[in-house]
Amino acid sequence: MPDAGVQSHKTDVIIVGGGPVGLFAVFELGLLGLSAHVLDILDRPGGQCAELYPEKVILDIPSRLKITGQELVNDLMSQIEPFHPTFHFQQMAERLEKLENGHWRLVTDVGTAIEAPVVVIAGGGGSFMPKKPKLERLDEFEGKSLFYSVRKMEQFRGKNVLIAGGGDSALDWTVNLNPVVSGMSLVHRRNEFRGMQATVDQMYALVNAGKVNLAIGDIVKLNGENGQLRSVTLKSTEKGEFDVACDTMLAFYGLTMKLGPIADWGINMENNRVQVSTESFETSSPGIFCIGDMCHYPGKLKLILSGFHESALMAHACFHYARPNQKLRFEHTTSSSAIQAKLGVS
Ligand SMILES: Cc1cc2nc3c(=O)[nH]c(=O)nc-3n(C[C@H](O)[C@H](O)[C@H](O)COP(=O)(O)OP(=O)(O)OC[C@H]3O[C@@H](n4cnc5c(N)ncnc54)[C@H](O)[C@@H]3O)c2cc1C
Repeated sequence: MPDAGVQSHKTDVIIVGGGPVGLFAVFELGLLGLSAHVLDILDRPGGQCAELYPEKVILDIPSRLKITGQELVNDLMSQIEPFHPTFHFQQMAERLEKLENGHWRLVTDVGTAIEAPVVVIAGGGGSFMPKKPKLERLDEFEGKSLFYSVRKMEQFRGKNVLIAGGGDSALDWTVNLNPVVSGMSLVHRRNEFRGMQATVDQMYALVNAGKVNLAIGDIVKLNGENGQLRSVTLKSTEKGEFDVACDTMLAFYGLTMKLGPIADWGINMENNRVQVSTESFETSSPGIFCIGDMCHYPGKLKLILSGFHESALMAHACFHYARPNQKLRFEHTTSSSAIQAKLGVS
């Protein structure tokens, strides 16, 4: 279910990170009747599998002889569908505070607030952050007329947009934003693109129709005043230095992973990883758990299957926070009619 914007929510468990481990955690929690909200800074589920290697074949998922990163994500999404998790994409889990009732309140960078008795950190290698170009005066324009993602297309309606980059994001947004902007330039340092061929073809069709100005060269200067871009200066061997007019720039130079705000949540860490107990995957803060690549314990292996195991133990330990007055019965999916009913299978 997509998020409708700045809102307040209550749930059983807040999961920070929608990578493969965060997604499987929804399933393990769902089996025990616990609801979950999942947050990710990315615009879609899948973490590293979807962002770094969607077409690579994974060969060590139990019982799956081979499966691509994206196929694994698609299957995990189908598996958790019966539990109707709420996703909050393109939001950074930023502040975490303990409430008087013992619950946690998590607030994102766009102000969405979620309250729950349990927080599960499934932040993997950290939140994906945009790689920034090395240009003078960058911070003067950032957030005002220079952006690294499209959160709402409406923000760009009627603008003269310059898109920088040569990968899937740059090409997708060249095609998708084109109908709403007043003018558009696509800037890339060479005349070869790394995106899907179908999108490359769509982009060239827009160039041929005069709807996109394709400019080849390195961006060397940002021009404008008071945070408002007027143009960027490009440099190429053929043309030397030249300006491309724009009032808005979208830079898509890829992503890097950074630990981000989790480091400030007062949890014991070791080498940028969160220390956990291997019985429960609880951290040094009661009610906060950590699973997947971001957790640390002796012998930890950064593998998807390790994260799946950690999810099951975490869910059983979480149950006691979310349902303090109920007893948890261990059940197999093969024989529990209650679980089969939840999953809609008989
Ligand atoms: C090229 C490559 C090949 C690999 N091959 C294999 C393989 O064959 N087999 C295998 O088992 N493993 C493989 N791995 C490792 C595997 O991808 C990881 O173990 C797995 O992705 C970890 O899952 P995760 O859910 O813990 O974290 P991730 O996949 O890293 O997902 C974490 C998510 O949390 C989000 N996040 C973090 N902090 C915040 C925050 N504060 N707010 C909002 N969102 C946040 C991030 O944006 C990210 O989407 C490979 C990794 C790479 C890079």
